[in-house]
Amino acid sequence: MPETSAKITVLGSGTSVGVPTIGCHCSVCSSDDPRDKRLRPSILVGYEGHNVLIDTTPDFRTQALRARIEHLDAVLFTHAHADHIMGLDDVRPFNFRRHGQIPIFAAVDTMAAIRRCFQYVFDGGKKESSIPQLDPRLIDGAPFDLFGMEFLPIPVLHGRDRIYGFRFGGAAYLTDHSDIPDSSLDQLRGLDVLFLDALRYKPHPTHSTVDRSIKTVEQLAPRRAFFTHICHDLAHERAESLLPPHIRLAYDGLEIEVGLPQ
Ligand SMILES: [Zn+2]
Ligand SMILES: [Zn+2]
Ligand SMILES: [Zn+2]
Repeated sequence: MPETSAKITVLGSGTSVGVPTIGCHCSVCSSDDPRDKRLRPSILVGYEGHNVLIDTTPDFRTQALRARIEHLDAVLFTHAHADHIMGLDDVRPFNFRRHGQIPIFAAVDTMAAIRRCFQYVFDGGKKESSIPQLDPRLIDGAPFDLFGMEFLPIPVLHGRDRIYGFRFGGAAYLTDHSDIPDSSLDQLRGLDVLFLDALRYKPHPTHSTVDRSIKTVEQLAPRRAFFTHICHDLAHERAESLLPPHIRLAYDGLEIEVGLPQ
């Protein structure tokens, strides 16, 4: 791995419906703690003046304004669920600033779904108004270089679907997953920072839980772990007080300097 230091900004730490959840009056949805306000799940990876986004959530415009993102160099997609792709049209202002296409990276099935959802972007027809200018690139399990940093797609199981997380330098980001195959676990050793799905305490068919992700952390022994894709069952302060100090809950706006691999 190249010795590049990176900064991760958590743009959203919430599950697919976000927290607060529409119409819900539970104590977490009504909480005054800003860490209990969770937009849909995404991170920005910044290094050497480059910004790489993982997933474009339906909240992407709000997230980009809040994090004061001024340029975008690439987008990686984990999978094509609505909470991970629906903000793609909002990359247009970055096209205006960049005067060129933004490369987007996704597995073949994810890219096909993106092409269906955003058919007007890819149909090649003459447009009267702006559309995202994108350069689609397919990924499989092979590592690829982006601006001098290696990104390694890590296969994980999200219910019955096989989707990707990503490892880069000393960090890995595994959002939506219910299981991690052994071959992928082997690719996640020696990390400084590991992000894991931890939807809630109760089991869910397509997501990891707090207990399950604690076990994954014990197994992989990263220096630090952050849980994300969190629903309104977890109050930030209370949930964190029950975790060991090297495991924290991610929250919107959290910034982490990534160290080198161990
Ligand atoms: Zn999701
Ligand atoms: Zn609620
Ligand atoms: Zn999903």
